Amino acid sequence: MKIPFVDLKSQYLSIKNEMDSAIQEVISHTAFVGGQTVKSFEDAFAGYSGAAYAVGCANGTDAIEIALKAMGIKPGDEVIVPACTWISTAESVSAIGAIPVFADVLPGLYTIDPEDIGRKVTSETRAIIPVHLYGLPAEMDEIMDVADKHGLMVMEDCAQAHGATYKGKKVGTFGKAASFSFYPGKNLGAYGDGGAMITDDERIAETMSMICDHGQKGKHNHLIEGRNSRLDGIQAAVLKVKLNHIEKWTDARNGNARYYNEKLADTGLLIPVIPDYSRHVFHLYVVQVENREQIMKLLGEKGIATGIHYPTPLPYLKAYEKLGHQPGDFPVSYRQKDKILSLPMFPELTREQIDYVCESLMGVAVS
Ligand SMILES: *Cc1c(COP(=O)(O)O)cnc(C)c1O
Repeated sequence: MKIPFVDLKSQYLSIKNEMDSAIQEVISHTAFVGGQTVKSFEDAFAGYSGAAYAVGCANGTDAIEIALKAMGIKPGDEVIVPACTWISTAESVSAIGAIPVFADVLPGLYTIDPEDIGRKVTSETRAIIPVHLYGLPAEMDEIMDVADKHGLMVMEDCAQAHGATYKGKKVGTFGKAASFSFYPGKNLGAYGDGGAMITDDERIAETMSMICDHGQKGKHNHLIEGRNSRLDGIQAAVLKVKLNHIEKWTDARNGNARYYNEKLADTGLLIPVIPDYSRHVFHLYVVQVENREQIMKLLGEKGIATGIHYPTPLPYLKAYEKLGHQPGDFPVSYRQKDKILSLPMFPELTREQIDYVCESLMGVAVS
């Protein structure tokens, strides 16, 4: 049986008519960049996310950078980020001249360790970027406590967590602002690149919009220097259609994850924790195994696609070699790096496919 890692084709086919006509409408109005479709998606996305404002932009990496800038992060400021995340989280901090400072993650949860944040705070620290990695909300109560204690701002990286909640509250609404990615494989994915920022602060929202459009407030009225990072009309139309389906898709991801967890419960593999106070949205389903490379190869031979998210914790990448970090600096991240394995996860995955993945995995993992 062939099981892809994600299946964007079957999702498209399930909404083809609705999608094709939404895209066709943008083309017939030639509203290719900005315009009514973008505005209408931004409003819908703000509503979905429980925020007062949403501002679309070109991608999820720009979203982090622009949100930090709009919040007033300046060159030389230190921003604490998790050691385990996609590089965008740290890269965007550096892009504005600020300094990413890494904190370790929690064992078994994969999100930033609030106690380690406390240890990394200096007189230059201005903000924390929790990442709701794999779709699991970070421990926001503890994170907000550390932030309050040291007077730090919080910018949530929600690129993997559309629709996730922590103690009943949507992720992205805890800090001053939050960023989202609409990369095609994300839980809410465009048919190209896209991103958005949300906030409840009107002034921050206005600054975000200006930065995305060359610092303009109205045509040719450049109040600041900005850049070009705009969401295009076709992507906004695609996202607006998908927003109508995301709840049922998220529930399907959850059902798949719980079924995986049931099947893998007694195998000795470390399976994902699903805290009862959070809505995990399972962007990725990540287990920990021994002999990972061998397992990946054998699963591959059985037609099962797997992935590693991410093979090297950021502090140990060549890009951050200059910081001179040692394995003991982030022991949890270091220990899990050779064990984490992402199994196929998407809403349309069938029980039969999950059975096949689990049986194949058990067959190769115990040998
Ligand atoms: C995907 C992702 C991003 C970046 O999004 P792009 O749209 O690809 O720029 C940022 N942070 C995390 C955690 C991500 O997974």
